Amino acid sequence: MRVFKFGGASVKDANGIRNVAEIIKTQCPSEVVVVSAMGKTTNALEELVAAYMNQQTERIQATLSTVKSYHTAIMNELEGDFGAVHETFCFLEECVAVKPVCSYNETYDQIVSLGEILSTQIIVAYLKAHYVPVMWFDARQLIRTDTNFREGRVDWQETARRISETLVGKGVKITQGFIGQSANGRTVTLGRDGSDYTAAIFAYCLNAESVTIWKDVPGVLNADPKWFDETVLLDTITYQDAIELAYYGATVIHPKTIKPIQNKGIPLHVKSFLTPDAPGTTIGNFKQHLLTPSFIFKVNQVLISLHPNDFSFIAEDNLSHIFGRFAMAGVKINLMQNTAISFSVVVDDDPDRIPRLLGQLKDDFRVSYNENLELITIRYYDQATIDRVLVHKKLLLEQKSRYTVQLVVTDVAQEQRVF
Ligand code: ASP
Ligand code: MG
Repeated sequence: MRVFKFGGASVKDANGIRNVAEIIKTQCPSEVVVVSAMGKTTNALEELVAAYMNQQTERIQATLSTVKSYHTAIMNELEGDFGAVHETFCFLEECVAVKPVCSYNETYDQIVSLGEILSTQIIVAYLKAHYVPVMWFDARQLIRTDTNFREGRVDWQETARRISETLVGKGVKITQGFIGQSANGRTVTLGRDGSDYTAAIFAYCLNAESVTIWKDVPGVLNADPKWFDETVLLDTITYQDAIELAYYGATVIHPKTIKPIQNKGIPLHVKSFLTPDAPGTTIGNFKQHLLTPSFIFKVNQVLISLHPNDFSFIAEDNLSHIFGRFAMAGVKINLMQNTAISFSVVVDDDPDRIPRLLGQLKDDFRVSYNENLELITIRYYDQATIDRVLVHKKLLLEQKSRYTVQLVVTDVAQEQRVF
């Protein structure tokens, strides 16, 4: 058994669906196929949730109609019996017709999860109309999570039991990425871009032969083409390199995806849905570490430096205090460094969380910070690669380990600010 995963970009319009159907027909007559919501549907549904929770009637109607008309236009171009899709539209309308009773996050999961339900219903109807033996499976009945809404944690034992008992027999099995369900029957999502993770969950539970993630890029490149002109396709990557690259911010694979497949030694292929016969990239148990330098760019970074007011050392006690504050504020640290009496971190800018966090830290520390920075990570660096990314940049902080260098840079000389 193999697992295929198609992301939102692959099914963003009628042609995309025809193409995905062709890949399914020719490459996987009896596989598990995990599909994301179409195009930017998840963003639109997030907008609907925001409107609904704020009870903005006009905005609710406008977003609802965007979601409906987008899917309807796609269905109008395709053959199929789309009755199930219309039922989901009705369910969505009913959801937002009554006043909110649950928390934001719980409500979010009930509504945003419908993007994946819609996409899989449309694809299954289309495949059936083309006589492809196919079955629709509800991932909410298969993936059991806790009630940590928007970031559900998987109950592996129960999930494995359900998946291995249910997904048997011949034919293509289509299901949704990104969603699961708690023991009390509430839908729980697995975090934005979580469909890759879903594919890994299915692969783990089925002891799959392989997982293939179909993307709009030829495979895993050594840099995002958005930032670099000359990118190189990496043919093979070790699990370790893949997890490191994902951790540092390479967006090609969701960071949670690697652990389940590494634990079972299942290879992960990343291929282009535009050139399905090209080999793409394989992530697996390779001995050889990848030696091509990889570049990961994160923009909109803030460098925060903390200096204890009482001139005490940065030691275990105030570090645990600092980490506690960051964890409570939900601010993830991308890089950290300390000296005797200062502690610096780089984090994603967040106009809401960061000022609140800095306000709290100010009681015990003098806080200075720089905004609008870039965090550049190079795995398998050498001096030439460092020099290449530092052209026209000012270096504020550098951290080197044997294989990885992280550089915090700014474009123009910017003044440090004191909070
Ligand atoms: N549709 C979800 C999202 O856009 C999950 C995914 O695409 O992987 O975040
Ligand atoms: Mg998506």
